[in-house]
Amino acid sequence: MAKINLKALSKQELESFIKESGLPAFRAKQLLHWIYERHVRSISDITELSKDLRERLEGKAYISNLAMLDRRTSVDGTEKFLFGLEDSESIESVLIPDKDRLTLCISSQAGCAMVCRFCLTGAMGFRRNLQPHEISDQIIAVGRLIGPRKITNIVFMGMGEPLANFDNVVEALRRITGQMKISPNRITLSTSGIAPKITELAVKAPKVKLAVSLNATTDAVRDYIMPVNRKWPLKALMEACRNFPLPARSRVTFEYVLLKGVNDTPDDAKRLVGLLKGIPSKVNVIPFNPYPGSEFKRPDEKSVMGFQNILLNAHMTAIIRKSKGQDISAACGQLKARYL
Ligand code: SAH
Ligand code: SF4
Repeated sequence: MAKINLKALSKQELESFIKESGLPAFRAKQLLHWIYERHVRSISDITELSKDLRERLEGKAYISNLAMLDRRTSVDGTEKFLFGLEDSESIESVLIPDKDRLTLCISSQAGCAMVCRFCLTGAMGFRRNLQPHEISDQIIAVGRLIGPRKITNIVFMGMGEPLANFDNVVEALRRITGQMKISPNRITLSTSGIAPKITELAVKAPKVKLAVSLNATTDAVRDYIMPVNRKWPLKALMEACRNFPLPARSRVTFEYVLLKGVNDTPDDAKRLVGLLKGIPSKVNVIPFNPYPGSEFKRPDEKSVMGFQNILLNAHMTAIIRKSKGQDISAACGQLKARYL
């Protein structure tokens, strides 16, 4: 019989497994603690259990681990990790140090099916959804590798569209906030705009922060650069954002990748002000990261600043985000596993 991966079990499933093994309920608690807080690599490392019990458990179960295939450090301190999964798919996670924060950007899918035209992950196509433990394990694996430094924030901005892998992402969020005890207000989920799933997220998931990759102010332009818009156009998307219940003092982040001559005019900036009216929001203006073969160009500094100024003059919070880790292809939208 194939061994059971304890990490692939939800809390309830692990509790049932313990019960069916004829063990008292507190053993489930112990396992959860050692797996999600002490980050053990194997059952034999759980020294709180007797040697006998460890051997008994190891007869039918194991704890999976992501395999680190590659690790690169950028000149700006950003680090990129390439992890292998049990079926030889691979995913990337990016660690971004910034003042007193250490943010880990994690993947929710291998590849992405949304085919946004400006995104390299989109260009590689879709491989498969990640299982809940493959999502949360990125935090455990990187945490082990960087000790004693501690990850302070999590962003779902790596490979994949998290809301297209909804159930697994919600279960991963339960583990990250529940078992791993990371506060939901330190977690941001970024979506390309699957409107009904934004609404469902608010109901079903721990109360994490929301980021939306908006990137255009008219349906015509958004249809072209983000095909997801053909199904859920701006009106539906903005309505879902407007109705997203925000914790006190919290705001929705709108990411806006500036593509030269496509979505970067003063009129776009003015329309953006209009679209976000009434939504507690902040805008991350991200000059496009060019890559070989892309049809788009990065606007010059002057038009980036001009765009930002229009937002600032309308009393909005607008920050220009220079993507980090460009020299190691770890910047926004540049994640693409090259290890084959
Ligand atoms: N799929 C989700 C999560 C990925 S976040 C989403 O799209 O929101 C990746 C972010 O990088 C998105 O905001 C996207 O708009 C941005 N991005 C993608 N390609 C980029 C590029 N070449 N230059 C700058 N930003 C890019
Ligand atoms: Fe997928 Fe997001 Fe890239 Fe679009 S921007 S292709 S949704 S990862």
